[in-house]
Amino acid sequence: MSFAELWASLLPIGRDPGTGGYRRYSWTPADLAARDWFRAAAGQRGLRTETDRNGNLWAWWDVAGMPATGQPAAIVTGSHLDSVPDGGAYDGPLGVISAFAALDDLRERGFTPARPVAVAAFTEEEGARFGVACLGSRLMTGAVAPAAARELRDGTGVSLAAAMAGAGCDPVGLGPDDKRLAAMAAYVELHIEQGSALAGLGAPVGIAEGIWPHGRWRLEFAGRADHAGTTRIPDRRDPMLPYAATVLAARQAAVDHGALATFGKVTAEPGGANGISSSVTAWLDARAPGQAALDQVTGQVTAAAEAAALAHGVGFSLRRESLTPAVSFDPALQARLGAVLAGQLPGPRRVPVLPTGAGHDAGVLAARLPTAMLFVRNPSGVSHSPAEYAEPADCAAGVTALAAVLAGLAGS
Ligand SMILES: [Zn+2]
Repeated sequence: MSFAELWASLLPIGRDPGTGGYRRYSWTPADLAARDWFRAAAGQRGLRTETDRNGNLWAWWDVAGMPATGQPAAIVTGSHLDSVPDGGAYDGPLGVISAFAALDDLRERGFTPARPVAVAAFTEEEGARFGVACLGSRLMTGAVAPAAARELRDGTGVSLAAAMAGAGCDPVGLGPDDKRLAAMAAYVELHIEQGSALAGLGAPVGIAEGIWPHGRWRLEFAGRADHAGTTRIPDRRDPMLPYAATVLAARQAAVDHGALATFGKVTAEPGGANGISSSVTAWLDARAPGQAALDQVTGQVTAAAEAAALAHGVGFSLRRESLTPAVSFDPALQARLGAVLAGQLPGPRRVPVLPTGAGHDAGVLAARLPTAMLFVRNPSGVSHSPAEYAEPADCAAGVTALAAVLAGLAGS
């Protein structure tokens, strides 16, 4: 099956007909359909599939003539199949589909690996359902405690443990998977670029340099529910006001420190159009080129929120939900990718090397093994939106690049 066929078969799964965006949240029917798709694609290729203790999917191209238990450490490639609310078609799936297509490419050329090659799809990379990004890879490396993970709740109060069990996946085994990590020699993730740097450089593919430190914070403003038509201004304790001030302060803090700060999710309780809210809960996503700048941004936002809450007689609390330190991808692996790809693709002879503000499973796994990323050009730079797009020719260049990298790493 070619890239185009793989693409067409995954495309309808989890797409909302109204928005055209994807709603593939982990352990929902859309996610289970995407998992079935993964197993079918692997099965068509005769790859050995498994679901690990954290719900991540694996498809193995083992070295022929060796028992499954005695294989050398593997070269793993892949990405994720879950999405943000109304996400695009490329973020995640491009890496998984390109992985299968690269394997097809290698086999057609008669390549026989000296070490296993595996395709992986990590669970809940976006954190869209349970609030912790890269949950599957973080559980695997021990960066998230399994007991805390089991108790994570989605927006309707369903726990991760219940969601997994409901999908027929036992949550009892959640947790560090050192044996599996030891069986990995390297992880290379291909991903659509979530910016437009490659477009500016005239290059279809880039190599990731590192990931900015980034995190997610939950802010709660507790006021008092009251009547919108009868409560005098001085008597109000309206949590919406300090929230609004905090949004503006976050924007200013980002500008001040060359960083990014976003409120993309907010809930107001009880949510009546003719009432003052009792509480406003909002999530701050902040990213910066370095940890010091990130600390300055969050410090500035927190101070602004506290001051505004105090001025409006509103309670304020803040909880960090996740923090991912800066990641530098393995320099030796990065250099090796650069050498393998030099002169192999359209555009500049040397493949550009880029930083990114977006988190990825490759960034989490970088703490435990050499990891690298390839980015495929995104002409508009738009991501996490139905408008996300990459040209077919650039996707093909991505597959060519990934196949060359896998051949270089898994060859004799
Ligand atoms: Zn992604």
